[in-house]
Formats: sequence, structure tokens, C-alpha cells
Amino acid sequence: MAVCQVCGDIFNNETGYCPTCGAEYKIEVGGKDSQDLFREAMQRIEAGQVIDAKGLLSKAIEMDKDNASYRFYLGSVLYKLGEYEAAYNSWQKADRLLPNNERIYRCLVAVRQRITETKK
Ligand SMILES: [Zn+2]
Repeated sequence: MAVCQVCGDIFNNETGYCPTCGAEYKIEVGGKDSQDLFREAMQRIEAGQVIDAKGLLSKAIEMDKDNASYRFYLGSVLYKLGEYEAAYNSWQKADRLLPNNERIYRCLVAVRQRITETKK
């Protein structure tokens, strides 16, 4: 559940925007560190709230740019959202931070394939 900071409406965040007034929904970070945000993002992913997870992971990365896990999971979220180019970029950064990781490598292969398919 999300609360719009503009009109105060409570809604299920599916698009990243308030369905009532159209304002962009921003995740409140207030005092949390990147680990807290990461844990919360994992819970959101499990609950299927990938848009929220995307916001949380982006914030976590702002705080800790060199964390391969954050980049990896952001890539997964973007992939789920069909944002393949962005997912590719995120996984590539994860790959640079954590070279020769088979999981990241497999994701990169999968997303490259998707990008090629969508360009056909
Ligand atoms: Zn609103």
C-alpha cells in the first residue's frame, strides 16, 4: 500500500504514480540505511510489488553505489517490468563489481536475448 504525498490517497502502487491525482509516488527513505532499504525491497519483491522494489533499490544504490547485490536485484526487477535495456545496464554494473559470477552472467545472456527479440 502506498500513500500519495500530494493528495493523501491510499492506493496499491502498480505504476509508480497516484491513480487519483497522477503525482509520482516517491518512496519515503526517512532515516533508513541502504541495508534497510534492500531488506524492504526483498519483501516487496516477494509480495509482487516490483514497482516499489524498484524505487527502494534505486535509493539503496544511491547510498551505496558499489554494491553488486543491489544492482543485481534492481536488474531482476527491471527485467520483470519489461525494461530490458535498463536491466541489462544494471546487470552489467553488477558484473563489473562482481566479475565471473555465473548468476549474473546467465541474466546478462537472457536479457540480451530479450533485447534482440524485441528489436525484430
Ligand atoms: Zn494523489
